[in-house]
Amino acid sequence: MKLSWKTLLLWSLPVVIIIFFLWQGFFAPSNNELNTNIANSRMTYGRFLEYLDMGWIKKVDIYENGHTAIVEAVGPELGNRLQKIRVELPTKAPELIIKLRKAHVDLDAHPTKNTSAVWNLIGNLLFPLLLIGGLAYLLRRSNNSPGGPGQAMSFGKSKALFQMEAKTGVVFEDVAGIDEAKEEFEEVVTFLKQPESFTAVGAKIPKGVLLIGPPGTGKTLLAKAIAGEANVPFFSISGSEFVEMFVGVGASRVRDLFKKAKENAPCIVFIDEIDAVGRQRGTGVGGGNDEREQTLNQLLTEMDGFEGNTGIIVIAATNRADILDSALLRPGRFDRQVAVNVPDFKGRLDILNVHARNKKIDTNVSLATVARRTPGFSGADLANLLNEAAILTARKRKQNITLNEIDSSIDRVVAGMEGTPLIDSKSKRLIAYHEIGHAIVGTLVKDHDPVQKVTLIPRGQARGLTWFTPSEDQSLISRSEIKARIMGALGGRAAEEIVFGDPEVTTGASNDLQQITSMARQMVTRFGMSTIGPLSLENEESNPFLGKGMRSNSEYSDEVAIKIDKQIQEIVQECHYNTLKIIKDNRVVIDRLVDLLIEKETIDGDEFREIISEYTPVPEKYQHTF
Ligand code: ADP
Ligand code: MG
Ligand code: ZN
Repeated sequence: MKLSWKTLLLWSLPVVIIIFFLWQGFFAPSNNELNTNIANSRMTYGRFLEYLDMGWIKKVDIYENGHTAIVEAVGPELGNRLQKIRVELPTKAPELIIKLRKAHVDLDAHPTKNTSAVWNLIGNLLFPLLLIGGLAYLLRRSNNSPGGPGQAMSFGKSKALFQMEAKTGVVFEDVAGIDEAKEEFEEVVTFLKQPESFTAVGAKIPKGVLLIGPPGTGKTLLAKAIAGEANVPFFSISGSEFVEMFVGVGASRVRDLFKKAKENAPCIVFIDEIDAVGRQRGTGVGGGNDEREQTLNQLLTEMDGFEGNTGIIVIAATNRADILDSALLRPGRFDRQVAVNVPDFKGRLDILNVHARNKKIDTNVSLATVARRTPGFSGADLANLLNEAAILTARKRKQNITLNEIDSSIDRVVAGMEGTPLIDSKSKRLIAYHEIGHAIVGTLVKDHDPVQKVTLIPRGQARGLTWFTPSEDQSLISRSEIKARIMGALGGRAAEEIVFGDPEVTTGASNDLQQITSMARQMVTRFGMSTIGPLSLENEESNPFLGKGMRSNSEYSDEVAIKIDKQIQEIVQECHYNTLKIIKDNRVVIDRLVDLLIEKETIDGDEFREIISEYTPVPEKYQHTF
């Protein structure tokens, strides 16, 4: 952030004023005399006049411009002792003075100290002076500024508007696993490096590229890599920084950003979280957002304002392209859209390799195994994972990162911090049965993912965990796979029921039950997997203005709603029945596995299957072999 002396001066103004007043309050001379002379007893003005008439008042000292008097009085009511009494005088009463004179009372007036008056004067003058000076300064600024008078209160200027990196230091090699997006951008780099070759044949260089993808997939990294590869400066700002409390600030920031960018062309302007400003206009539930609209309009104006050949390429990132204003997506603006997705197996392996470059990883660690275990991890998750493993290795004072550290880091990223295991107790036994229940059902049901390990070591919220190795392709899931998942999730509760009996079942299954219900519901309402038929009755598509995941379930009648509930129940009941049967039929091996689990705390998937296969055939599942 650049701090000019002008900015400093501007912002020091209120501070000076405040300090001045504080100082005046604390240190300016106060009426010390009155305070030292303080009389504890008080009397009213009326009483004072009475005393005066009785001739009991001996001396009067007047303070505070005649508002307060300390009187010395003596009389029978006062125990015949001379006492100092404080009297608040109603107004400056000239007749009082005359009266006192007549009564021959010793009278003295103590004017408020001169210094105080001086300070009052200065205080009264200085404040308006500062104010006028400050306003004059602001006005002068706004006349000079390109934005015109609209910027009189230049809030937008005083904060760091955007970041500029002359050299990002990121190159394409640092970005892995998102090859399609990369290819798209290699062309952009050529635009920036040799615009002539495009303009010569009359091609227009695109102005804006929109990166769409979930968080942590490398959108920012990719934008930086383009700047790094093309060797041009990188300007970045986040959409949320545009949206300020003060109307007009966002728009002025956009102006400033593009002004600076033009001065530094060719360059990359990166707008992160563009959905914060770029939402569809005028459709907000509960009123639109003027500020956002102004900012967006300014952005559109700026993007229309420069020719494609000036060498500015605007890259924006969002994870919600569906809610963007269509004006942003028109040709001439963000006309190129590039999807950045969560990496697949090969992508994850490449990303792991990138981040393993500067880490000491043991030679027998197969990063492919790590990539297998981490479906759904984004680039940022993977980077974080290796870093966690490195920290763990350092903490253990080991030389190299081994699979052990990586494994426990994965567990940690997925399920949270490791806790201390329970001591052997009834609840530990119950948790063991619950987990073995999940694991054995998951193993014996045909279409379930294979068990990776079962553990009683708590993590995050969970007091025990059964890990399954998810299959790579999660995009198409069959009906029998969903049912298998429901059964696997029911396995924990089913084991509790069979082993401990209905009265003893615990709340431990609540999370499982949530998942089960949600899966069954989606089977019926989204995937057409019930006897209601292939209908889409609900969709997860959320209303951007009502928050994520709001169900819009107004699309069916009450009659259908009843049918849906019935279908959900039927699915779950059928799965529950089958799950209970698996637990009952395998009680012997379950008991043995529970004892083993309590003893060892963790059972590996292969060992688990081996033990089960001594009792009952284990269906063959896709097993990863490397
Ligand atoms: P996004 O902007 O999509 O939310 P970032 O670009 O900020 O994600 O990614 C955060 C970090 O995660 C990066 O700095 C990088 O270390 C790592 N990362 C993410 N994606 C990738 C990738 N595709 N290749 C290499 N590293 C990645
Ligand atoms: Mg980002
Ligand atoms: Zn469970």
